Amino acid sequence: MLDLNAYIRDVPDFPEPGIVFKDITPLLRDHAALAQTLDALAEGFGDAGITRIAGVESRGFIFGVPLALRLGCGFVPLRKPGKLPWTCSRREYELEYGRAALEVHTDAVDADDRVLLVDDLLATGGTMAAAVQLIEDLGATVIGASVVIELAFLAGREKLACPVHTLLTYA
Ligand code: AMP
Ligand code: MG
Repeated sequence: MLDLNAYIRDVPDFPEPGIVFKDITPLLRDHAALAQTLDALAEGFGDAGITRIAGVESRGFIFGVPLALRLGCGFVPLRKPGKLPWTCSRREYELEYGRAALEVHTDAVDADDRVLLVDDLLATGGTMAAAVQLIEDLGATVIGASVVIELAFLAGREKLACPVHTLLTYA
């Protein structure tokens, strides 16, 4: 087993002063580290009867699609405003500075879907909380949220009512 922490690069002051950016590109470029990451993500909710994975733009797409293939289900993109071409549902949320929003196609999930949310990283939890609301707005059930990295000191998990599975935790 690899120590996946060794494949996460800390980049200080990106994209702005005071933020330590967790760069996942060293992990993505290494086949063994990437495969181990997908295996570990698949273990989290592998037996929970997931029928669809919803990934958060854009790094949630990188992990969400191969995870969907491993779990034997389809994939739904949650995107920044103005990117999706069909009828959308939208949720706005707070960022450290200002507001942001995510959109989903209104026909992306069905009421009987059991949805797993996927992103690369959980920080304040605002993004993932908006993702949960988007899916619940469409009447589907959120089974949980899986992320590779959790910045536990920001307590994002406390914003989420669903179970959260994380691989690497930074205290
Ligand atoms: P939050 O809504 O605060 O939980 O922020 C999570 C989202 O912002 C995820 O989609 C991450 O890709 C991104 N993000 C936030 N903080 C960082 C960080 N320190 N390093 C890399 N990505 C981050
Ligand atoms: Mg992101």
